[in-house]
Amino acid sequence: MATKQDLVHVFLVTFPAQGHVNPLLRLGKLLASKGNVLVTFSSSKSIGKKMKKAGAAVSGDPTPVGNCGGMIRFEFFDDGCSEDNDDERYDLDTYLPKLEAYGKKELTSIITYHAENGRPVKCLINNPFVPWVSDLAEELNIACAMLWVQSCACFSSYYHYENSLVPFPSEDQPDIDVQLPSMPLLKSDEIPSFLHPSTPYPFLRRAILGQFKNLPKNFCVLMETFDELEGDLIKYMSQICPIRAVGPLFKNPLLEASSNISGDLIKADECLDWLDSKPHSSVVYIPFGSVVSLSQEQVTELAYGVLNAGVSFLWVLRTNATSTGESGKLPEGFLEEAGEKGMVVQWSPQAQVLTHPAVSCFVTHCGWNSTMEALSSGVPVVAFPQWGDQVTDAKYLADEWKVGIRMCRGEAEHRVIRREEVEECIREATSGSKMAEMKTDAMKWKKAAEESVAEGGTSDRNIQEFVDEISKLNLKK
Ligand code: UDP
Repeated sequence: MATKQDLVHVFLVTFPAQGHVNPLLRLGKLLASKGNVLVTFSSSKSIGKKMKKAGAAVSGDPTPVGNCGGMIRFEFFDDGCSEDNDDERYDLDTYLPKLEAYGKKELTSIITYHAENGRPVKCLINNPFVPWVSDLAEELNIACAMLWVQSCACFSSYYHYENSLVPFPSEDQPDIDVQLPSMPLLKSDEIPSFLHPSTPYPFLRRAILGQFKNLPKNFCVLMETFDELEGDLIKYMSQICPIRAVGPLFKNPLLEASSNISGDLIKADECLDWLDSKPHSSVVYIPFGSVVSLSQEQVTELAYGVLNAGVSFLWVLRTNATSTGESGKLPEGFLEEAGEKGMVVQWSPQAQVLTHPAVSCFVTHCGWNSTMEALSSGVPVVAFPQWGDQVTDAKYLADEWKVGIRMCRGEAEHRVIRREEVEECIREATSGSKMAEMKTDAMKWKKAAEESVAEGGTSDRNIQEFVDEISKLNLKK
């Protein structure tokens, strides 16, 4: 068995946000579980503090993952902002340059220290919003790879936009459809919304496109998708850059051994006992990820829509403010009216909730992690996208993968979805022929997801080949 000194040291750097931490940490644990790899997982100190507070075993000492000798450790850096207050981090136009300036300096000394102390870093892996990690890798003469944490369809959209390869909606032509190779025609509100000229978040477009400017610096793009799901497109885009589909990371059986190392930034509330008390396939699960905040009017309409549909529900309603503000509150008397049928929490153990037999359907904002988690758990969805890749994911969930009903088309619609629509969508997704059709397709994707991550499956092979590749990098040096 390899000694600690023999392990290939892979250093992962994530942008400090829940939707970025989860897939990169899952990848880190997976790489370590394949053996011969020491993973250092790194982000801002504020993330380290939140992970610890939520109960994760995040130690600077290498912790074994699985039975093949691989290990994971954590090392957080100062990003120039308060560890306890995220306000400064919400203004990405000022935060991103700060993160880059502090991150580069801090990581240079961390990585140099490791090199001088017998643990040289052989490969740096980053995820969107921190493209400067590739510059750092180049400066330090270290190989660099990226984990793309959205669909291949979104990857292709950003790539074609950045390189002006096809026409996209513009100020002059805001409503044109977009046709990309090996993809269905996307209407103007189905492309990742940050690419639309009317987006209120142009800084997010800039942040994501930074990754595409640095694409050639990555010897490999690992992708949180799987061949069975986006095969033709992955094949097409692989002619442009070296893609390895390694998802669904959430589903990988090798991760079970390290479940005490969770990426949660908020401690999940207990709700599994409550789910245990509910009949099979009877509960609608309603979270909106870690960033989306809904207006008071929208929360009220959703609440009455759910109530009028007469279903049991588990609703994640965060009371903390995020970069999008504070979410509306449940209407007065709502919980009393719902009684035994409803449970509301601040944060749920989503991975476990989605695989719980009591859950029948998932009302989701269609963040990519949630999308992959739904697909690989065999749970049909009611899509409630807001912005970014969510609108593209909603299109695919409904029209391509046929596991979802679209309740709205995104924030750009500028309308409140009324309780009658909410009720109708939930009824359709939880009873009758539409539900049965969606469930059949959902189970098909679940099986495909399981096969892709099982030993010898497409994603498993891609991970193994990646580990072999970085091990060879090790030998070359
Ligand atoms: N999540 C969770 N509990 C919750 C809500 C979300 O564990 O109550 C997790 C979810 O499983 C997913 C992540 O938070 O892995 C959210 O990522 P996603 O890409 O879906 O959305 P984002 O938060 O980035 O908008």
